[in-house]
Amino acid sequence: MKVNILDIPAQGLQLNITKDSNELQTDAGKINFQILSPVSANLALFKSDGELYVKGNMTALFKLQCVRCLKEFEYNLDSKIEIVYSTESALELVEKELTKEEIDVNTLKSNEIDIDAILLEQLTLDMPMKSVCRIDCKGLCPKCGTNLNEGKCSCPSAEQIDKRFAKLKEIKLK
Ligand SMILES: [Zn+2]
Ligand SMILES: [Zn+2]
Repeated sequence: MKVNILDIPAQGLQLNITKDSNELQTDAGKINFQILSPVSANLALFKSDGELYVKGNMTALFKLQCVRCLKEFEYNLDSKIEIVYSTESALELVEKELTKEEIDVNTLKSNEIDIDAILLEQLTLDMPMKSVCRIDCKGLCPKCGTNLNEGKCSCPSAEQIDKRFAKLKEIKLK
């Protein structure tokens, strides 16, 4: 979905977006998470003083894989969106003798703003780097692969091994 910034009225533009997750998933391409529900967003677009403000929130449901136990789980993302674009053309900014670094990456290259791209970028930004199914996920036994959330395996625990080493130390000391 694209919005022409010239079409944004002085009082601003309110967008209530429900985006088909498949469509966004296709755009996401190589991004390695699965978007489940339709992604919904409420955005307010308004112009002021050579700047365009995009503010609002977005919610989406994902399927992620736990890095500890490798189980898939659903993750609910609730993102805040707050972006400022400069609506002045690059040329105008050059005339103001700004350096390249000062010309923000958020300078609009055309009069159109790509809402889908904004949503996708926000999703990528807010996605947890290391996702665990729950904070206290016990993970898999490194020896036999048992999911320790579901039950204990018969491998000696790290604690038991520590005890054995402690006993060995005692013997050596004697
Ligand atoms: Zn887990
Ligand atoms: Zn085990």
